[in-house]
Amino acid sequence: MPTNHSPLIIAGPCSAETEEQVLQTCIGLAKTKKVNILRAGIWKPRTKPGGFEGLGLKALPWLQAAKKITKLPIAIEVATAKHVEEAMRHNIDVLWIGARTTVNPFSVQAIADALRGVAIPVFIKNPTNPDIELWIGAVERIAQAGIPQIGLIHRGFSVYGNTAYRNAPVWPLAIEMKRRLPSMLMLCDPSHIAGRRNILQAVAQQAIDLNMDGLMIEAHINPDSALSDAQQQITPETFLQMLNQLQWLTTLGKKENF
Ligand code: PEP
Ligand code: MN
Repeated sequence: MPTNHSPLIIAGPCSAETEEQVLQTCIGLAKTKKVNILRAGIWKPRTKPGGFEGLGLKALPWLQAAKKITKLPIAIEVATAKHVEEAMRHNIDVLWIGARTTVNPFSVQAIADALRGVAIPVFIKNPTNPDIELWIGAVERIAQAGIPQIGLIHRGFSVYGNTAYRNAPVWPLAIEMKRRLPSMLMLCDPSHIAGRRNILQAVAQQAIDLNMDGLMIEAHINPDSALSDAQQQITPETFLQMLNQLQWLTTLGKKENF
């Protein structure tokens, strides 16, 4: 994985919806040459029943096709042992554990048990509530399963009432997490923090200014028609513009584009 000074960028649709949507989005993102890992949601944890819950197994071959065409590794979210098994069966390269799963030690342990003996990088998003020990506990469970490469993703926290954010960032918590686990990459997911396109870049820049190691960004070939998280997704073209405008800290503390 890249060092601090070569940001790790994960990008792709919130959800895999159709083969065309997955391929067009992933090819568009790959063309920007700014993406290290493609992402897509296959099983979607939704707040209420009746929302789009993802297409499941049907969508995994589309990700395999995206990988073959773009030559980029693919990341998906896993929330159960069965998801882990299916991800391995379909040659998924990277896994992440979502905020609604990190919050539950039973779920994290079930995933850890399924991961035993498997060498795949796993990113762990913060739990939905700002509890640093719960987040660290999830990391320990996955580490104890023998996973050698574990990364962290700050995607903000649930708060009651109106805030500027969908999930409010708690930067001091993310910074403390990075201090306590200095060998792990700490990415930021500005898409789920912002919840809307117009503050996405500002949140991403704030994360970079706080020395985060990379970003996970949701992108969609036609964001307004997305079946999940339509308001926060951006096209591959907007993604490129945004990445071209973001400024990264250099070793000397100078800012530069990458
Ligand atoms: C996602 O990445 O699409 C997702 C569901 O994220 P989170 O776990 O941060 O809500
Ligand atoms: Mn999403």
